[in-house]
Amino acid sequence: MHTQLQDKKEFAVGVEVNLEGKIALITGASSGLGSRFAKVLAMGGAQVVLAARRIDRLKELRAEIEAEGGAAHVVALDVTDYASIKSAIAHAETEAGPLDIVVNNAGVSTTQRLVDVTPEDYDFIMNTNLKGAFFVAQEAAKRMIQRAKGDPKRQHRIINIASVAGQRILPQIGVYCMSKAGAIHMTKAMAVEWGKYGINVNTICPGYIETEINADHFNSEHGKKLIDMLPRKRVGQPQDLDGLLLLLAADESHFINGAVISADDGMTAQ
Ligand code: NAD
Repeated sequence: MHTQLQDKKEFAVGVEVNLEGKIALITGASSGLGSRFAKVLAMGGAQVVLAARRIDRLKELRAEIEAEGGAAHVVALDVTDYASIKSAIAHAETEAGPLDIVVNNAGVSTTQRLVDVTPEDYDFIMNTNLKGAFFVAQEAAKRMIQRAKGDPKRQHRIINIASVAGQRILPQIGVYCMSKAGAIHMTKAMAVEWGKYGINVNTICPGYIETEINADHFNSEHGKKLIDMLPRKRVGQPQDLDGLLLLLAADESHFINGAVISADDGMTAQ
């Protein structure tokens, strides 16, 4: 139905996300969600910087993106190594240009009871999921803040990938849950401190999403039982996060800051 209101520009609805001219860095882009996030942002028009340790896989992804007409760069990054973070972000900006969007996606987990967690397990998870994500965001934000001082209208986005596990406790992955809860609070702290520089920092909390690391598990007897307990008895696919990612990356989300948004098919609402 066409109404008179639609003829007035101020009432027009229908927003097309356009990331042309934006440069987005995605950590842990060598597999799973990170690889999908990179493709989606590239399809949205952004130049993407693929950052992870497995360079061969990043080069394959770059070729796929370029074959679809997108622009992609590859940088080596180990988020547990501060020097690597600094050099990866410097390299990204030299090669692609100033970063507008950072997707803090790299993450790891181990499965065990809390009483069995060793200091090495603890550091492995926390150093990647929380400390690593913090220093990636900090290094990017330092540069974003400098640019914002010269151009206060400039918009930046940091999107932290937490998890439902940051909002509720899932069995056998207690330290992972702690790290993701930390990532949620980290998001809010960054949003409060950096919002005035036009840096919006938000968190996506995915529910169970089938990726190569968990596909076998979801097909096992235990995995099937777990799926049976979910509200709609299904797990998600990486593309189920496309819409939310694009929204948080786009200029149109300029009033969303410090948000913790679940994309879990109702899991945390149960
Ligand atoms: P994945 O294992 O395929 O992806 C994790 C990526 O992080 C990999 O590419 C890995 O190489 C990279 N990585 C790990 N340590 C790194 C390091 N030190 N430096 C650089 N890169 C490193 O798993 P995924 O399912 O795609 O997970 C992506 C993110 O989504 C993680 O943060 C995970 O916690 C989160 N998440 C996943 C699910 C799910 O069900 N798949 C649900 C909620 C949250």
